[in-house]
Amino acid sequence: MSYKKKIALILFTLSMFYVKSQQNYPTEYFQKPLNIPLILAGTFGELRTNHFHAGLDFKTQQKEGFDVMAAAEGYVSRIKISHWGYGKAIYITHPNGYTTVYGHLKKFNKAIEAYIKAKQYQKESFEIQVFPKSHELLVKKGEIIAVSGATGGYVGPHLHFEIRDTKTEKPINPLLFGFKIKDNRSPQINVLMGYPLQDDAQINQYNVPLKLHYKKMPNGVLLADKIKASGRIGFGINTFDRQDGAWNKNGIYNLKMLVNDALVYEHEVESFSFAESRQLNLLIDYERYKDIDQRVQRCFIVPKNNLSIYKNCINRGEIHIEDGLTYTVKLITSDFSGNKTTLQIPIEGKKQDIVVPKKDNSTNYPIIAAGFNKFILDDVTVAFPKNTFYKDTYLDLKIMDSIAHIHTPNIPLHKQYTLTFDVTNFSPQEREHLFIAKYSSKNEPFYVKTVKKEHTFYTTSKDLGKYQLLTDEIKPTIQFLSFKENQWISTKQALKVKISDKLSGLKKYRGEINGKWILMEYNPKTKTLTFDFNDKKFTAAKHELKIVVVDNAGNTTVKTGVFYRKVI
Ligand SMILES: [Zn+2]
Repeated sequence: MSYKKKIALILFTLSMFYVKSQQNYPTEYFQKPLNIPLILAGTFGELRTNHFHAGLDFKTQQKEGFDVMAAAEGYVSRIKISHWGYGKAIYITHPNGYTTVYGHLKKFNKAIEAYIKAKQYQKESFEIQVFPKSHELLVKKGEIIAVSGATGGYVGPHLHFEIRDTKTEKPINPLLFGFKIKDNRSPQINVLMGYPLQDDAQINQYNVPLKLHYKKMPNGVLLADKIKASGRIGFGINTFDRQDGAWNKNGIYNLKMLVNDALVYEHEVESFSFAESRQLNLLIDYERYKDIDQRVQRCFIVPKNNLSIYKNCINRGEIHIEDGLTYTVKLITSDFSGNKTTLQIPIEGKKQDIVVPKKDNSTNYPIIAAGFNKFILDDVTVAFPKNTFYKDTYLDLKIMDSIAHIHTPNIPLHKQYTLTFDVTNFSPQEREHLFIAKYSSKNEPFYVKTVKKEHTFYTTSKDLGKYQLLTDEIKPTIQFLSFKENQWISTKQALKVKISDKLSGLKKYRGEINGKWILMEYNPKTKTLTFDFNDKKFTAAKHELKIVVVDNAGNTTVKTGVFYRKVI
């Protein structure tokens, strides 16, 4: 090979490497979707329950009603309306290979609103998802597509904004596309944890995770008390970033760990796939999260963790501490603007007696992660398909006061397992209003999807915890808020109805005027259904409203009422 060819090959190889590790994103293509200063209530890759946050949350001054604009030209490729999740959401596909997503909207612009309402009346459902064709709903860059809101369950007013690769549907950090967010503050570190990672490893004579003390030095660096350790160990921190102009605790962008100045761990939230998002439970110390509701990000990669956010890791971020040697570990947490906070941990390699060993769980039910595990406890059967667990473990299983204790919720599961209750002791009448309830972290029972077979009821779940069969014989309640019987309400813009249900919760509702389905929007925060009189033209003055509400235990309530309206 000639010298020139060799150089060319080397350059080519280098550039391949460069392209692979450093994607280029267009930074001038997308405009901001709001006409107000962009302040974040949530960052991309932020740690949420069972997933990474897939976009940016733009604050909207605690109120609804700001114009939301298309970030670039394209077409509306998806409209989704749901009581939960993103609430009312629009997806716009752009010709440059990206799709933008706008969530929690109050309502859409005229054209989109008319389009989706026609589909809702066709389907007779408020909740809906449609995929318009590329010629149906075209939008220009900067065109108002919606107004901001707070739809989608118990969320406050804000705009959720995503940029996805259209082909792979992978969300990408929108900050890589040139959106400017003022941020002069460094991330903060709340908690430092040490993790012995093998049976004879120890940190300060502990073989279990332990919180480590540190203090702030005059130069701003955080310095931990010197620790004595031996064997394979790892570290983790609870960290967040605050940007200028808001108190929101947002996620960081990059986390590095250096041992004696050599980089051994790095993760960065540039992009991820929705399929891998659940493995967030392996990034964090899940047990601590479930026990005290605090997310500690671990700077080592446990087995089965295949997240794509890792960049430069040696020995999966595990540090092997040898007797007689000293180490300096640096944890560096950074935000997208490059503000950094460093925490330094001096370590002396010293083998000592372990005074706090791991708890012995061997009297409990053993789980082989790679196998199928099934246990029968009185009237309850619990079956875990293979690879439900990330690692072999022991479960504490018992029935107490008719509550099935399926361990505690502090072990993350990768898959759903099946929990089956024998119901042969209940009469057919009793079974009608019987359902499976799960206990929340506040110890309140709530309905979980109950599948009813002839002799058994079962549910599937990705959460360990307490489950029980409960009976609900109380019917839902319905209250008309906009009129009294036979009242004239010609000036009212909307019809409001309050619906609620104790224990098992609402399953479905239906509103009709004069025997015809009407679109009623359900707001879970106020428990109200709203019908907009602009949606329908009436040719007579007298109307009958009928509302049917069914709860999850099969209790049904029907309420009708008559009101009058001037014909226009
Ligand atoms: Zn969001």
